Amino acid sequence: MKLIFLGPPGAGKGTQAAGVSAHLRVPHISTGDMFRSAIKNATPVGLEAKRYLDAGELVPDSVVIDMVRERLAMDDAKDGYLLDGFPRTVDQAVALDGFSEPDAVIDIDVPDEKLIGRLTGRRVCTKCSGTFHVSKLADEHTCPICGGEVRQREDDRPETIETRLHAYHEQTEPLIGYYSGKDKLRRVNGDSRPEDVFKNIIASLE
Ligand code: AMP
Repeated sequence: MKLIFLGPPGAGKGTQAAGVSAHLRVPHISTGDMFRSAIKNATPVGLEAKRYLDAGELVPDSVVIDMVRERLAMDDAKDGYLLDGFPRTVDQAVALDGFSEPDAVIDIDVPDEKLIGRLTGRRVCTKCSGTFHVSKLADEHTCPICGGEVRQREDDRPETIETRLHAYHEQTEPLIGYYSGKDKLRRVNGDSRPEDVFKNIIASLE
């Protein structure tokens, strides 16, 4: 199955995508993770993308589209995939339709006022990439899973969060209309317990 996860930053796309991709046995492809890894490894894409991620703005379509086209051409994505964070503009969605049309699009819906608390409190383990809310950590610097160092993502600082939410409403939200027009959209309430969101996603696919 070729699946897309839509939703604002902080909706829980990454967490849900990890569970759902394992359940469906398809690769979880996160463009945000691909950019963060490219930046860490100082690749040409990383060097180009860094200033956009730091500012909370979208990386130009041409860069993202080429990166995703190459990734979906790999063997493990032949029979299906779960795209998390792509497409984020209508131009990206149109380009994707040209090389790999999705079967279904899940929109994880969470109101803005909840997103800000989730994003400012989000902490990520630098070792295992586990994601936690700071209020749930006994020690806010230590990963409860692997003991690695836990940090706040650079783009989860309040000044950048505002830019990211603005980019979502302006550039990504129109995709809801794009995919509902193609009868591919399934909306799931993301404002509940993660295990319930997971169940509702699976139910929406059946
Ligand atoms: P995420 O981890 O999905 O929140 O993505 C982090 C950042 O990566 C975003 O704020 C953008 O700067 C960049 N990014 C990820 N996916 C895309 C995309 N499809 N189009 C443009 N920029 C993206």
